[in-house]
Amino acid sequence: MVEMVPAISRLGTESAFEVLARAKVFEAEGRDIINLGIGQPDFQTPAHIVEAAVKALRDGHHCYTPANGIPELRQAVAIDIAERRRIEVDPDHVMIVPGGKVTMFFAILMFGNAGTEIIYPNPGFPIYESVINFTGACAVPMALHEDTGFSFSANEVLSLITPRTRLVILNSPANPTGGVVSREVMDNLAEGLEAHPHVAVLSDEIYSRMLYDGCQHVSLLEYEHLRDRVSMLDGWSKTYAMTGWRLGYGVWPAGLIAAATRLSINCHSCVNAAAQWAGFAALTGPQDAVEEMMRVFDERRRLIGRELNQIPGFTCIEPGGAFYAFANITSTGMDSQEMQDKLLNEAGVATIAGTSFGRLGEGYIRFSYANSTDNITAAATRIRTCL
Ligand code: PLP
Repeated sequence: MVEMVPAISRLGTESAFEVLARAKVFEAEGRDIINLGIGQPDFQTPAHIVEAAVKALRDGHHCYTPANGIPELRQAVAIDIAERRRIEVDPDHVMIVPGGKVTMFFAILMFGNAGTEIIYPNPGFPIYESVINFTGACAVPMALHEDTGFSFSANEVLSLITPRTRLVILNSPANPTGGVVSREVMDNLAEGLEAHPHVAVLSDEIYSRMLYDGCQHVSLLEYEHLRDRVSMLDGWSKTYAMTGWRLGYGVWPAGLIAAATRLSINCHSCVNAAAQWAGFAALTGPQDAVEEMMRVFDERRRLIGRELNQIPGFTCIEPGGAFYAFANITSTGMDSQEMQDKLLNEAGVATIAGTSFGRLGEGYIRFSYANSTDNITAAATRIRTCL
């Protein structure tokens, strides 16, 4: 009998993939399922990006690339950050990786260990808590509250810091809540972190381009005094509808880039060369497809907000970013898992239980509005009828 190390049994998962698999089984049985579960744009990757990858393959880009990514792409990332976030970053501190998740995995591996603590958003992206537990570190939840639009209080976060804290993970705009942290809160947090120089920060900014109502993204990289300990995660998956390409990047401080590169060499060597050329075309080419996707998402955001608030027992605050609505279902008397199962089994609507994003997600259901307005309306009608 083979025996794995205990750390493996501490790994969690991302339920969105399990719900997707169950939805596919139902579909294979002939049932019509509306999928508001999985968090990926329902758009195709823009054609000029696809063409760039095809061309790269035709032009013979078939070999390993440098472990940290092709220089052209790292330079394009640095220029994009300078233009959008108004921050200078050294392209040598940019590390191209196979998806946004990899930067997260590496950062948590770098700082998590038995006896250390890592603060992470709860409800939040489930992989944070999973990998923290895997490393043996203590996962310390930073509670996100509905009454603050699922932001957090800087003082509350700072009060969680102990001498054992090694890393704080932030995510704005956020999954699963759609919450956006204001500049004022970020300023307060950044200021407070000055008193805790032993604490590193991972800023997950994968939804940085997915903001509504003219809201401006605040990047943790903007705070000069934190630059030697902030790692920033972003990528192409959400912005350019490229989830299946597996392409993301991290911007690492000078003291961590060598460790990140070494982890990459030990893990995946480099990212698929053609995907990197696609990423280059995405950043340097026309952005109208991104703007159009955001216009459509905004329309759906308003629609799903109206629809969810008309379901008896549901309330939903208007999400400020990403493409998720996090509905409060406590008045229905059902818990999150019961509701997720009922909606999938009886209404044929795939959603994700709030508890898939941590203990503090109880009483909520996440709806991804990366689906057509017709399907969103039909899903809401099915739910009303079912309940
Ligand atoms: N960070 C957050 C908050 C996410 O929601 C996701 C994907 O859902 C990721 C990171 C990972 O993105 P990728 O698919 O590029 O690995």
